[in-house]
Amino acid sequence: MTSPDEVAEQKMRFLFALRQRGVRDARVLSAMEATDRGLFIRGTFADRAYDDTPLPIACGQTISQPSIVGLMTQALEVGPRDKVLEIGTGSGYQAAVLARLARRVYTVDRFRRLVASAEQIFVTMGLTNVTTFTGDGSHGLPDHAPFDRILVTAAAEDPPGPLLAQLRIGGIMVLPVGQSDAVQTLIRVRRTEDGYEYDEMLPVRFVPLLEGLGRE
Ligand code: SAH
Repeated sequence: MTSPDEVAEQKMRFLFALRQRGVRDARVLSAMEATDRGLFIRGTFADRAYDDTPLPIACGQTISQPSIVGLMTQALEVGPRDKVLEIGTGSGYQAAVLARLARRVYTVDRFRRLVASAEQIFVTMGLTNVTTFTGDGSHGLPDHAPFDRILVTAAAEDPPGPLLAQLRIGGIMVLPVGQSDAVQTLIRVRRTEDGYEYDEMLPVRFVPLLEGLGRE
């Protein structure tokens, strides 16, 4: 059992690690403070929920490192009126953080089992502005486009064309690009009246963006 003092201490260390790694945006920090990462991790790894480390989840996937979640969310510059698309629901943690900052979040994963589990947690948390989908997210969600913000949490070789097309003019997309087992780079894409502007952020390591549905 963890005592209330230990919980407070863990939380302080968690926020300190985020700040130290460059997560400075007050709205992002409070959204992450309010989102209990422990809810998204089951079993043996649950007691490491507040460490700044990626952890295994079901279907052979991973919940991202909190500081990377923070930096990606910060780079996305989400406003309270924004409609956000996330590709790669995974545990649901990133979507829950986004839900505290945006008007509405659409999140897609290729594993039905992960989507069902995340959905359950959103209900438990009382989050009513997240809509989940099972499918191949590289096609985006044409029925709900355009999006003000798009966040991809699995690595493709290049930004998928349908996602670029579903980004609103003035919108921002953050995603890791590069080959799955080689070096990947987190990039930020801004759509302008004239086209797309690309910014490189930092080296990262994500699971690959795969085609089609998962088997679970
Ligand atoms: N954002 C998650 C972590 C994502 S791990 C979290 O907060 O926990 C990457 C996820 O991307 C995995 O769950 C994987 O199943 C999913 N994924 C990979 N390729 C995909 C695709 N084409 N469409 C949708 N999801 C995909």
